[in-house]
Order: sequence, then C-alpha cells, then structure tokens
Amino acid sequence: MTPVKEIIGEMTDASPEDIAFVEKAYEFSKKAHATQTRYSGEPYFIHPAATAKILAEYGMDATTIAAGLLHDAIEDGCISRDEVEKEFGKELLFIVDGVTKLGTHKYRGAERHAESLRRLLVATASDIRVLIVKLADRFHNMQTLEHVPEHKRQRIALETLEIYAPIADRLGMGKLKSALEDLAFPFVDPDAASHAAEVRKLKTQETEEGLTKVQKEIGSELTKKGLTMFRTDIRMKGLWSLHQKLKRKRDDITLIHDIAALRIIVSTVEDCYVTLGAVHALYKPLPGEFKDYIAFPKPNGYQSLHTTVVTPEAGIVEIQIRTEDMHRAAQFGIASHMSYKQLGKGVEKLGKETQKSRFSSLSFSWVRWLIPSLMKVATKEGETKGVTKVPPWLAELAEAHTDVAGSKEFVEGLREDFFSHRVFVFTPKGDVIDLPAASTPIDFAYAIHSDLGDHLQGAKVNGKLVSFDTVLGNGEVVEILRRDSAHPSTKWLDIVRTSLARRHIRATLGLTEPEKPTPKRRRSSHQSKK
Ligand code: MN
Repeated sequence: MTPVKEIIGEMTDASPEDIAFVEKAYEFSKKAHATQTRYSGEPYFIHPAATAKILAEYGMDATTIAAGLLHDAIEDGCISRDEVEKEFGKELLFIVDGVTKLGTHKYRGAERHAESLRRLLVATASDIRVLIVKLADRFHNMQTLEHVPEHKRQRIALETLEIYAPIADRLGMGKLKSALEDLAFPFVDPDAASHAAEVRKLKTQETEEGLTKVQKEIGSELTKKGLTMFRTDIRMKGLWSLHQKLKRKRDDITLIHDIAALRIIVSTVEDCYVTLGAVHALYKPLPGEFKDYIAFPKPNGYQSLHTTVVTPEAGIVEIQIRTEDMHRAAQFGIASHMSYKQLGKGVEKLGKETQKSRFSSLSFSWVRWLIPSLMKVATKEGETKGVTKVPPWLAELAEAHTDVAGSKEFVEGLREDFFSHRVFVFTPKGDVIDLPAASTPIDFAYAIHSDLGDHLQGAKVNGKLVSFDTVLGNGEVVEILRRDSAHPSTKWLDIVRTSLARRHIRATLGLTEPEKPTPKRRRSSHQSKK
C-alpha cells in the first residue's frame, strides 16, 4: 500500500495546506473503501492511493491528487456527493463527478467509433484534470490487469490501446502513452507482443556496448566545445510502437534505426544546435533523416532535434537532442503545463516568447486533433475543396486559438467555444451522434435518418421516456420509437435546433422556406465586399 508520505514526497513545492488536504483525503478514502477488496484480493484502497501517487509524480496540484484518492469513493457508494463537497469543496467534487461520468462510456470495439469516443471523452471532461485523473486511474488498473476476469481483460486492454493511449498522446503525455500501450499490448495480441519483445532484446544486446562508447565519445566532444550542462541516456522504443513500425517496414529489422536511441539533454535551445553540430562533426548523418521538431513542433507540442548517424561502434543510431524543459514536456505533456509552479520555472528558464509559442502550438494541436483535416482549412484560406465535413465554426475556433497565451485560458476557451456548442450522444448501439447544443430528440432522430424523424412517435433518454422538447446532454443514450402512423407537427418547428430537422419537417408538412436570408447568401455578399 502506498503510504501517504510517498504521495506527499512526490509533490513539488507543496504548502502545508496542500499537504494537510491530501492527508485528509487519504484518511477519508481509506475509511470509505475499508471493507472493499480488489480482484487480486488486496484491499481496494491500494488503487486510489496508487492513482494519487501517479498524479503527484505528474506534478498535479493538491486538488487533483486528492481527487485521485477519492475518484472511486462516490461511485462505489461508500460516501455521498454532499459529504465530498462539504469536506473537500466544489472543485474536487467536480473532478470526481467527471471521472465517474467518463467511466460509464465503454468502448465496444468497433474501430470506426474510436475517434468519436475519444472526442466524446474530451468533450465530457470539461476540466482537463478530469481526463488526467482518468488516465492515472487507467494506468494503475492496467498494472493489475492480470487479476481481472479473463473475459473483461481483452476489452479493457483494447480500450486502453485505442482510446486512452491516443488521448495521452494528444495531451503530449509521451511517457504515459507508451506505458499504457506496452501494458495493453500483450493482452490484445500476445504473439505479436512477444515477437516485438524478442526483436528489441536482440537489438539491445547487439548495440548496448557500442552505444555506451558513442555516449562517452559524444560526451567528451561536448565538453571540448565548452558545454558542461548536459546529460545523456539511452531510450528504448516501446513494444507497441516497435510493432507498428515492424508492420510498416514489413518486419525488416534492418530498416528500423530507432529501437535504441541516444538522448542528449542540454540546458538551452542554442546548446541543442551546438550539440547537433558536434554530433554531425563526429559521425556522418543519414540524409533525409534529420528532423527539427524545435522549429517545427509535432502537433501535440513535442519538441526535439532528431538525427540518425552512422557510428563505427554501434552502427546506425538515432540521436535525440532537447532541453530539460522539452524533455519534461515530452514526458508529461499537458500535465507539465497544468502545474503553474512548473510554469513559473519554465518562464525563468526560457523567456516569455518561447513559453508563449510552445503553448500556442500545444493548444492549437488540440483543436486540430478534433478534426484531423482541419489544418488544411485553417492554413489555406478559402481552399476548402477536398476537405469536406469540416464545419466552419470549428475552423474559426482553430484560428481563434492559434495565439492563446496559456493552456488554462485555452482549455477554458475550448469549454466555452467548442463544448458548449456541441453535444455528443449515443444511439442504443453505441454510435456517437454529434449535435449542436440544445438539440432535442427530434434533432437526434433526423440526424440518424429522415424516415426516423418523419415517423417519430416517442423518445427515451437513458431508458426513460421523455418529451420531445427535452434538451439532450453529453453522453446520454437516446432511443427513438418509430411508428408508421406518426407524423411531424408544426409545433416541432419551435423545438428543433438543427436546420436539417427543420428542413425535413417543413418539407413533410408541405410548408415553404421562410423569407429569411440564409447563412449561405449572407456569406457570399460578405465576400463580395472584400
Ligand atoms: Mn478507479
């Protein structure tokens, strides 16, 4: 069992109040779960305690760590929401509620819904800390997956691989992403996992000694150049990502150069380029393999210099060069931006401009992720051909958020601009339907099929019959009852939110379009003024 001292020991710059808050949550949760056990037979409390420790390691604030301690306490019926709010405040209750809500969405294994479900989870988690607690929760559950009954293991592992690991990746949490993948992989495909492990082991033995020599050689070269503040380590490729690469390279191991990579961590951006120069002076780089992710960060904010060189000692080696700050961001992603104390340190080290640009790239990537093809729309003005299905409001949002100064501001902006405008609901089969906020069961029915809307007789939300003017909420399951004799009524026109539904209802009722300028006409007149 994780003692509370271990959790507190991971907290950076915690105030006495922070420590007292976490200690209180620890004791509270311990009592609440006292009579429960895990599948392994161990006391249930080991789980929330381990989750809290993960959150502390990720540099999260006291509220989030305490939420980690209490994240299962309400759902499992040990304590009431009122009690949690009274003892720990609204903010913590909000996070715990969110985690509980996320837990109700189960991945049903259809690949085409993976993206929808990822979007739904992001949307439901209007406070990003909810997602981070959920990821920590999943991380610990994956570590103890072998105790879970066999028929559940496969689903949980697949869900981890296809839903949670990509979310961790999009949040820039590289360390957690590969940890989740490698925990899930053997349960999803045992044969492929052991093959990848075998390949990695062989390659490691082959190159380990050589890499250590390369490490020393580069070290002394850097010292000669006057660089004293640096460290190096060897990073091994994750098994799942190795498997993906093996598939792409048709299992030809000789084409994979980054199973083991040498990482050089320096203190400033300038030092990164000096180091690159030193490395290229020592060893010949492979043409076309150099990537400057410092000048051009990856969509999730990742920054580093990557180069692949030919060494006499270890053959072809990938070398990654980055600052301490980039290293931390690459491991912890958005979590490293959440803790504002860390942010303070970052500003001192990097200067305001660099800090700002890093946030911009990070925040922009979030929106881009929601619709992958958005980038094209956002950068090439007016050129939307071939990039269908990108709603204009989303493109606008992407542009509006390119110069956001901080992640907190950005997340709040997303909540207001994006999530309050859209609602994600399920069909009984688990398909996700994306509707504008304030949509009703009528909008839902027409979004599925016009015939279903035209013969809408009744609607159930989460299994209960509701009236047609019910406003649908995120994550609700909506079931439409159809009857041939049922028909739209003019009253529906006052209730519906989508123009799709309104158009169908008017057509079915034989009504003409109203004499209002359509948004399309307005836009074209606006364009002609330019
Ligand atoms: Mn849990």
